[in-house]
Parts: sequence; C-alpha cells; structure tokens
Amino acid sequence: MAERSFKSEVAKLRLGAGQEFRGEGILAVTKALLQSGVSYISGYQGAPVSHLVDVLADADDVLRELGIRFEASANEAAAAAALAASISSIMQERSHAFAMKSQIWLLDPRPNLPSIVRAVETGFELSEASNTPVMLELRIRACHVYGSFTARDNARGAFTLKDALEHPVRDPNRIVLPPASYLHEREKVEKRWPAAVRFIEEHKLNEVFDGEADDIGIVMQGGMYNTALRALEILGLADVFGKSRVPLYVLNVTYPLIDAEFVRFCASKKATLIIEEGQPEFIEQAVNTILRRADVATRIEGKSMLPMAGEYTGAVVKEGVRKFIAAYRGDLLADGGTSIASSLRSERLAKAQQAVAGKVHGRPPSFCTGCPERPIFAAMKLVERELGPHHVSCDIGCHLFSILPPFNLGNSTMGYGLGGAGAAALNAAGGKRAIALVGDGGFWHNGLASSVGNAVFNKSDNVLIVVDNGYAAATGGQDVPSSAADNSMRATKNPIEKAVRGVGVKWVRTLTRTYDVGKMRDVLKEALTTAVKGPKVIIAQSECMLNKERRVRPLMRKRLERGERVVRERFGVDPDTCTGDHSCIRLSGCPSLTLAPNPDPLRREPVTKVINSCVGCGLCGEVAHAAVLCPSFYRATIIANPTPWDRLKAKLRGAMIGWLQRRIDGRLAAA
Ligand code: SF4
Ligand code: SF4
Repeated sequence: MAERSFKSEVAKLRLGAGQEFRGEGILAVTKALLQSGVSYISGYQGAPVSHLVDVLADADDVLRELGIRFEASANEAAAAAALAASISSIMQERSHAFAMKSQIWLLDPRPNLPSIVRAVETGFELSEASNTPVMLELRIRACHVYGSFTARDNARGAFTLKDALEHPVRDPNRIVLPPASYLHEREKVEKRWPAAVRFIEEHKLNEVFDGEADDIGIVMQGGMYNTALRALEILGLADVFGKSRVPLYVLNVTYPLIDAEFVRFCASKKATLIIEEGQPEFIEQAVNTILRRADVATRIEGKSMLPMAGEYTGAVVKEGVRKFIAAYRGDLLADGGTSIASSLRSERLAKAQQAVAGKVHGRPPSFCTGCPERPIFAAMKLVERELGPHHVSCDIGCHLFSILPPFNLGNSTMGYGLGGAGAAALNAAGGKRAIALVGDGGFWHNGLASSVGNAVFNKSDNVLIVVDNGYAAATGGQDVPSSAADNSMRATKNPIEKAVRGVGVKWVRTLTRTYDVGKMRDVLKEALTTAVKGPKVIIAQSECMLNKERRVRPLMRKRLERGERVVRERFGVDPDTCTGDHSCIRLSGCPSLTLAPNPDPLRREPVTKVINSCVGCGLCGEVAHAAVLCPSFYRATIIANPTPWDRLKAKLRGAMIGWLQRRIDGRLAAA
C-alpha cells in the first residue's frame, strides 16, 4: 500500500476533449500518456518519481478500458527493458549524460501543465519521426506543480499488445549484433539525428520570448524557466505573467541542441547567459562550439556566473542573473539589483532568522518516531562497544540515516541494492568481518543478485543485514515482492529468507521483531564471531512505523466511533529516577525523546522527557534494558472506552501506588 492514494484524482483521467484538467504535474503526465495512445507502461516504484507509478496503479480501470498493460517493475533495469521510452529516476541532471551517450532525445519542459503535457505528446511524435527513444526529464518541483490544461480524449494505442503477440514482427537488422550494430551507429548520425533536429525546429518545441533589452539574452533548460523568471521578477526585469525585458530562449528539448536556433538567438547579442543546472556544463560547451563554427562572436556566460554544482534554487539563480545583467546591462538595474521589494524581503528574512535563533535547534535528518530500523542500529552500537568498530557498507533507503548522529555508523554507500556488493572487496583475512546493509526494496531491486548471489559465488565471509520493513518505505510505502500486505494486482508475501537460501546462503537468521534490541545484538554478535564460513545473512523484520500508523489509525478511529475499547501504549520517563546522562537519547535518537528541566532543585542536569508524538514502539525501554542503562522508563497503557474490569484494575492500582507514595513521603518527612 503506497503512502498516497490517487483514487479520487484518477477520475480526472477520464476527461475528454475540451474539458479542463486541474491538478498536479505528475497526474498531468499520466493524462498526457493516455491522450497519446500508449499500449504499455512500465516504471520502477521505489524511486523519486514513484508517484507517477502510484497514479498508474490506482488507474487500473481506466488502463484496462484502453487496453494498456501496466507493470510496476521490480527494478529500473526491468522497467527500461520493457520500454521504448522509460521514465528515469536518477538525479535528474545526470539524465543529460545518459541521453547524449545513448543518443536518446531529452525533453525538459517548462514546469507548467500545458508545457508538460505538450512535451509528453510531442515526445511520442518526435520519437516516431526520428525512430529514436525519448526521455522526459522532470524535476521534483515540476512533478508537484499545480495548474490546469485543456484535456483531449484518451486514445487507444494504434498497435496493441494483442497485435504484437499475435503477429510478431522480426527484422534482424533491428537487432544489436554486428554488422547491424555498426549500421545503427551510422543511421543514428546520418538519419535519426537530422530527423529529430528537423522535427524540433519545425514544431517549435523550444520557445523564444522576446524582450526589449535585445543586446543580451538568457538561455535556460526548460525546467529552470520558473526559477529564472522569478529571479528576473525580483530584479524588476519581468512581471508575474512571464513578460521579461530580457529575451529568453527556453530549451524544452535539451538534447539534441538546434544549432540554427542558437545562431539566430545569439547573433545580434553581445552576451548570453546559460542557466544550466548540473555539471559538466554540456550545453554551455556545445553552444560555444556552435557559435564559433558559425563565426558568431557573442560572449557566452554560464558557470562563470552560476555555481558549477549544487541545486539552482531561486536565490542562486537570482544572484547569477544579477551578476550577468550588472556586467552587460548595468543600466537595467537602476539600484544595482537591490530593488525595494528585494531589500524588504531580505529584511524580513533576517528578522525571522533572528527570532528563531537559539530557539530552534538543528537536527540531522533521522528515522521517523518509532521506526523499526532504529533498534537495529542501537544493537549495532551495543555490539561496537564489545567488539570494536567494523566497516559498514550502507545502501540506499531510510536506513542510510544511520550514518548521521546519534549512530554515526556507515563507511560507504554505493547504490540501491549494492550494500553487500560494496563490502565485497573487504572479504579479506583481516580479523574482522565487514557488515553490509540492504533494505527490502534494494534487495529486490538489485541486491539478490549483486549483493547476495555475488557473496555466495565469491565465498564471502561478510555479514549482510536485510532491513525488511515490508515496503519501499523511503519513497512512499509501495509494496515489494516480500511485503506482508495482500495486493490484488501483484504477488506479495515472497519470503526473503527463501530467496536468500535459494541462491545458496547457508547461515541465515530471521528476526521478526527488530525492537527486541537484546536479540538483535546477540544475533549480530554471533554473525560476526561464528566459525561458520560463507556469507551470514540476518533478515531483520518489523513493519515501517509510518505505514503502520497509516494502516492502523483509521481502523482505531472507526473503533472509537463505534464506542469500542481501544488500547494505545505510550512510554514515559520518571523524572525522579532519571539521572540525566541521556544515554537513551544517544542510543536511540528517537525524535520523541527530548530534554526537560530537572524537577529536583538539587540537580542541575535536565532529565529526559517523552513527548506526545511517541507511538509506544518500546525501543527506548528496550535500549535501556539491553544496555543496562537505567530503570527510569515506564510504559503506560491508555485505554479508550474502558470496560468495568479495566476501571476496577485502574482503581486498585491507583490505591496501591497512592499507598506506596504516601509511605515514601512519610519516610522522607521523618528523615
Ligand atoms: S518511513 Fe518507515 S522505515 Fe523509513 S524512517 Fe520512517 S518509519 Fe522508518
Ligand atoms: S517508545 Fe520510546 S523510542 Fe518508541 S516512539 Fe516512544 S519515545 Fe520513541
């Protein structure tokens, strides 16, 4: 079950010609796919653009009606293998290098719904016209931008999967084997590339916006348009409706570049700024070549005024644009770029920063309250106390938070599902075993072959912990093959242990409750010290707390509404007993543990306090017990709609506690 359901929005996918679609960018992409007449869609769900896959999963009825086959693929390789035009979820700017090297056209539309929808639809046409796959690059902000566009009717694919199955087409010249592969390389350069350039130019996929200051210009990736325009607006050089005083050339297609368009845009300008997020500066380098070849002397600025790497936020782009304008058309910035509006904004920001200084403390990103992965790292810290530090090879997923305080565990991370593979080189006679981590999402994505199979094949002696929280949790809680949930569309409940044993691991332990810190500690210690040779795999299971809360809370609410008995647990710290050494905070790092003033006037150290966000996972108590820390933790049971028996028990307990407290008070008074 994914964190977010799109069931209600999916109705919008049925909108027909002329109707207005209103909603999020990611939903607009789905509608545009349906309008384009696709036959099949694949994508990997444990990825930053997973919401696109979530929308499709919720749109099953609509897809069926249109005869579209949809796969939530086990990994990106599977998704890419199934597709001619795949979604890509790597850090978006890296897509550029892949596009160039693989000769896939790269679309980077302006972040508004009509532009995104047009990019999807014309992307298919471009692909057909040039016989080449097309990649759509969407920055996270574009995925979640809100807006509207005028819908078209959905279309059935012209060539269905039924056609493909019943009338398979075979053309050995399309298969990548010499000598055809060399012909393909020539064809790409001689036919497909020119065809793509022609299509992009003729259909005006890139856009030029004129401005009065026509001796300078700004070129940008389409995805940077909103940020660039906002920078110009703050500098007093554009209005909120997009009218810019500086001419703009917007690359809705960032690969291939259209030489003739660049020459036309730059020829009459003394300087042009290129806003290109990511490095190296592929576009800037290419533009310099294009202009030199065409003998155009326009000065090209780009990374000279904007940072080589890092996110191009509003503030970063504003500063780059300001520098450029100041260098070439300082007269446009009457006050040097510090307009009244922008200085007021800076003033307000400074005031806000001053107001919270000293009150809001920096916290490193960490696991959610009650996360079942936290106890695994608490156990690792306990083992570290006894056996000393080990090399820890981390993976992608929530568990990567272990590298930050309070755990400070983790030496490297290579990629999704590659935790075990990242420790492969350390399978050496060094007296200590390396520990590797992989989540259940990463395990199915790549880990079973790359981390486990590889370790078996190479007779690794390392330890691999598979963090099995039941979902691809970090990207929103999508089901994976080993999820415990029932899923009508996929086959779940495939045990990781069975898969691990299937590829040849002999030493496997499955722990079904990670919160049992003592047991986690003992099993990990055993794995690190056993005389048994070969890879040691620990499967540490407990449900992702965030997903559990999403699952359980509505059920609890319903039971409360029906007047039924509901039991919740909370943990607390007895301030009279707490010594104030805060080992519990250091060993668990739960955000629900904080500090409070010591009620004892003779002691100055603040005590630990459990705040109301506690979900009662019990880890702090377990840690206190396993680490022999202190007896200050208590567990409280909160019962809504109690039975008469509950009330009687509470009365008896209250009377007993009251009697004991009065006895202590009496003794203290007598002392
Ligand atoms: S999403 Fe789930 S697994 Fe990830 S940190 Fe939160 S509780 Fe832990
Ligand atoms: S029981 Fe302890 S560790 Fe668990 S959520 Fe509450 S305060 Fe955090």
